[in-house]
Amino acid sequence: MSKILITGGCGFVGSNLIRQIVEQGRDSRIVVLDNETMGSPRDLPDIDLDYHKGDICDPAAVSRAVSGCDTIIHLAANTRVIESIEDPTLNFEVNVRGTFNILMAARDAGVSRVVMASTGGAILGDVEPPVHEGMVPQPAAPYGASKLAAEGYGSAFSASYGMQVTALRFSNVYGPRSYRKGSAVAHFFKQALDGKPITVYGDGSQVRDFVFVADLCRGILQAIDANVSGAFQLGSGKPTTINELLTEMKKVVGTGRWPDVNFADWRAGEVRRTYCDITKARTGFGFEPATPLSQGLEATWQWFLSQVGDTAKK
Ligand code: UDP
Repeated sequence: MSKILITGGCGFVGSNLIRQIVEQGRDSRIVVLDNETMGSPRDLPDIDLDYHKGDICDPAAVSRAVSGCDTIIHLAANTRVIESIEDPTLNFEVNVRGTFNILMAARDAGVSRVVMASTGGAILGDVEPPVHEGMVPQPAAPYGASKLAAEGYGSAFSASYGMQVTALRFSNVYGPRSYRKGSAVAHFFKQALDGKPITVYGDGSQVRDFVFVADLCRGILQAIDANVSGAFQLGSGKPTTINELLTEMKKVVGTGRWPDVNFADWRAGEVRRTYCDITKARTGFGFEPATPLSQGLEATWQWFLSQVGDTAKK
């Protein structure tokens, strides 16, 4: 039986991924290392797993969790772009040193495969989309730099120590279990639930690539099964402006409950337009993000409503 360590397993992507592993009936023992900043094992009540509360910045905790595993899915990270501009040191410690700790422990324990969450837009900076793996990285914020450094160490450990390292460059992931996320879809739904206004930074023309979490998790598992290495973009492959996103979200929430939308100044350091070309993931391991935005938003809103015990949709 395979033994898979998932760092950040209590978080948004991790908790969805663990459910998908269980639903697929995979012959895998799941180990989780999580510091509980973005979730808790209470969010995975029905799942049989080996749980380690601990931080990826603590090499001893990492070694304990890695012991006996053949595969690591490294999701734990500090993911906020604007916060990384305000506090680049914390971002560095978690994303660079934390990933380095994971790779060292993997090397020392003879782990054969590490799959790590990375990012497309933030690594590449303000370039003309669609972004793809062949582009020269030019991060515009410390977050992108930290992920680029992590990918660099992954590549070096792969070449130097014979382990297989794959960097999956996630686009903007949304879906159920994102309650603790500050990202656009989660934040806008929470504002709608609370009856508070939404603030759009800029005029809403900024473009992102919104991928449904179940599609993304299928991609992660496909990448593992296909034994690929290197970097791959995982997104919907489709551009959506924030204004278009808000129009779709309003349809799902209903006009009666839809809050006011205010427009504020652009935030410094933000990428204006990014979406990705997913050809490499499609041909490399059959990645197919099939969920339309409207359907994914509906599933996400229903989950948010279920969290507040509210079944009245509109
Ligand atoms: N955004 C916004 N208001 C919010 C949250 C996000 O206008 O309350 C915008 C944000 O400025 C960005 C886009 O939505 O242009 C996506 O933001 P998110 O933080 O989800 O992802 P990222 O900027 O890291 O791609």
